[in-house]
Amino acid sequence: MGALRISLTDRCNLRCRYCMPEEEYAWLPREHLLTFEEIERLTEAFVSLGVDKVRLTGGEPLLRRGLPELVRRLSGLPGVKDLAMTTNGVLLSRHAEQLREAGLHRLTISLDTLRPERFAELTRRGTYPDVLAGIDAATATGLTDLKIDTVVLRGFNEDELADLIEFARTKSAEVRFIEYMDVGGATGWTPEKVFSRAEMLETLAREYGHVEELRKTDVAPADRFRLPDGTVFGIISSTTQPFCATCDRSRLTADGMWLRCLYAMTGTDLRKPLRAGASLEELRELITGVWQQRRDRGAVERVGQRARGQVFVSLETLKRDPHLEMHTRGG
Ligand code: SAM
Ligand code: SF4
Repeated sequence: MGALRISLTDRCNLRCRYCMPEEEYAWLPREHLLTFEEIERLTEAFVSLGVDKVRLTGGEPLLRRGLPELVRRLSGLPGVKDLAMTTNGVLLSRHAEQLREAGLHRLTISLDTLRPERFAELTRRGTYPDVLAGIDAATATGLTDLKIDTVVLRGFNEDELADLIEFARTKSAEVRFIEYMDVGGATGWTPEKVFSRAEMLETLAREYGHVEELRKTDVAPADRFRLPDGTVFGIISSTTQPFCATCDRSRLTADGMWLRCLYAMTGTDLRKPLRAGASLEELRELITGVWQQRRDRGAVERVGQRARGQVFVSLETLKRDPHLEMHTRGG
């Protein structure tokens, strides 16, 4: 167990078509959302069991009021070596400096296009200038290791790969291209819309010449590549080349459901024992017992299921259980 992704809310201020395409959603009851104290306590249990990388996500994590306070608590936990956040960047310009001061180590900002009209079409919101301001604010705070994550959709933004690489370079950031995944509410997913890792590499080789794959030195989901001019970028190929065998991540939803895999159909409710007064030792035992049983290979299994024409989860099921949604699981 090395990395924990903590979703802070299932709410979002964008409506990306690959993540939240529907008009209506079933939301987690507000009274179920973990408080900062509860998140800290659970994180403490995970860290004592070997987790040293924590990533805050959502929904949109910047919608959680008072977020720097949580960052301060988590960055202060001995054992947390890497505290990162994934955000859509819309609210970032207001918060970047405070987050850095509170002890955030790294930021990933999601941005799929550099064209305002495409951004509006994809996210159904007109906040493209705010995201750019958020990226600039992140750069200005001096947070190093800034990442820009781009989901590549065929017929939408596969013609922007080089532009995004150039853009990231001007912001001292590294872009990571993500294959479109059929998780949760990605109900518009079809195999045709996946622009694969192989196609991304072909496109970039046509543009730049030789693209060198860098040797992997960690279990992070991205494979990294270098262009002839030295620029490095990443690809996360969860759909065509899943990396389950080396995955050490698990996920905590905003209401304390612990998922061992992004594709898991069920999880372990940690909120109930926590609110019933479980001690740190009891939480540790519960987590260890579940983790020892872990055989999850969700993305690999999806490859086979897709070949048999099975959808991940029906719209009806999603409406009954918000835990199955990508915006609840945190991507
Ligand atoms: N709202 C924040 C954001 O967009 O960065 C954090 C949560 S979002 C669920 C985390 C990441 O998941 C984002 O980079 C997003 O682009 C990605 N994501 C969401 N749905 C996806 C899908 N169907 N396939 C691939 N990536 C997806
Ligand atoms: Fe888009 Fe992230 Fe919001 Fe999903 S959670 S709709 S990916 S901004």
